[in-house]
Amino acid sequence: MSACLPIETAQPRARRSAQARIVWGPRVVTVGGDAPVRVQSMTNTDTADAIATAIQVKELAQAGSEVVRITVNTPEAAQAVPHVREQLDRMGIDVPLVGDFHYNGHTLLTQYPACAETLSKYRINPGNVGKGDKHDKQFAQMVEAAMRWDKPVRIGVNWGSLDQELLAQMMDDNSRRAQPWQARQVMYEALISSALQSAARAEELGLAHEQILLSCKVSGVQDLIAVYRELARRTDHALHLGLTEAGMGTKGTVASATALAILLQEGIGDTIRVSLTPQPGESRTQEVVIASEILQSLGLRIFVPSVTACPGCGRTTSTTFQELAKQIDDYLRLQMPVWRKQYPGVEQLKVAVMGCIVNGPGESKHADIGISLPGTGEAPAAPVFIDGEKRLTLRGEGIATEFQTLVENYIRDRFGAPA
Ligand code: SF4
Repeated sequence: MSACLPIETAQPRARRSAQARIVWGPRVVTVGGDAPVRVQSMTNTDTADAIATAIQVKELAQAGSEVVRITVNTPEAAQAVPHVREQLDRMGIDVPLVGDFHYNGHTLLTQYPACAETLSKYRINPGNVGKGDKHDKQFAQMVEAAMRWDKPVRIGVNWGSLDQELLAQMMDDNSRRAQPWQARQVMYEALISSALQSAARAEELGLAHEQILLSCKVSGVQDLIAVYRELARRTDHALHLGLTEAGMGTKGTVASATALAILLQEGIGDTIRVSLTPQPGESRTQEVVIASEILQSLGLRIFVPSVTACPGCGRTTSTTFQELAKQIDDYLRLQMPVWRKQYPGVEQLKVAVMGCIVNGPGESKHADIGISLPGTGEAPAAPVFIDGEKRLTLRGEGIATEFQTLVENYIRDRFGAPA
């Protein structure tokens, strides 16, 4: 027999970045350093409609978003920000709010101090802070507002709004190279330079190094990987990671998961957002669910109990196990906002819902609580396994309801406070 070594479990690499603090009242969300990778999201309501915005922020926060960004694009939106915050505080939602500014952020942050004070972080896009002489002055006004109100900023570069003067300069410089780079490589360099030069300028103005987060978002998977690898190599600023304009449905989900997983495995990314275009009628919270699942799948975070379910095959003639798996999964997610407080540690729970005897008992034994439903030709009985032991068998029409009750009882007994 040839000598071999035990195979180690794959682990994400560590990249230690400067740690920023995003604060609202007593709630402090640390980003970077030894903090876990955070989930962010963004509303799509008109911020001037404070009630609608507060309701959506609440939904996003309850789905697991740890920071929520809102558009601040008009005087009406800036005036509404304190009212959004008031509504949230009244509902007991302490998630920090980030203001997303383009073009007029310097004016809004100066003329609406209550907005500047209420927001917990500002996003500044250096490609959208003004042209020519105005650029540096308006950028400085935003940084000064951040220093005045003690807020971190994200310098968020996006290739859809890249600083055109910087790009033109870099294209010119490139044309004078003995061997010019490809246009795409110049664009990568322009994205990274825009972020790093803006960060350096903000520090010159007096903003603390750790109060600056960076992002360089692009919409292609390989482009994002190339840009962030280089950005992470050149700076220790905390990085916000996301594929911009990821698209809709399966395409947006898969592209985001592919790009983010590769970079997160390399230790790159301190906060993430999945920029998914919702399907008609789909909840905005789907982007939070996907971002959380990416982190949970990589073993970086645990947000919700996991439900292991088999795909089904020719041994299953009904959709019973699919329906039961969905019912349990939906139920666990729905309960999590309450259970997080009531049952500390409940997110560690593992549930299995399996379609037949082939893998059902084995997979159910690996879970904390699992059920193996009867496949084609099997006796109409569903053994339930708890902590690796077969404890009882369910039969008849009420299997789904009875199994859900067993899961609830298990959670209460294992994670509830002792009586
Ligand atoms: S557990 Fe049974 S039903 Fe499910 S995929 Fe495997 S063989 Fe098919």
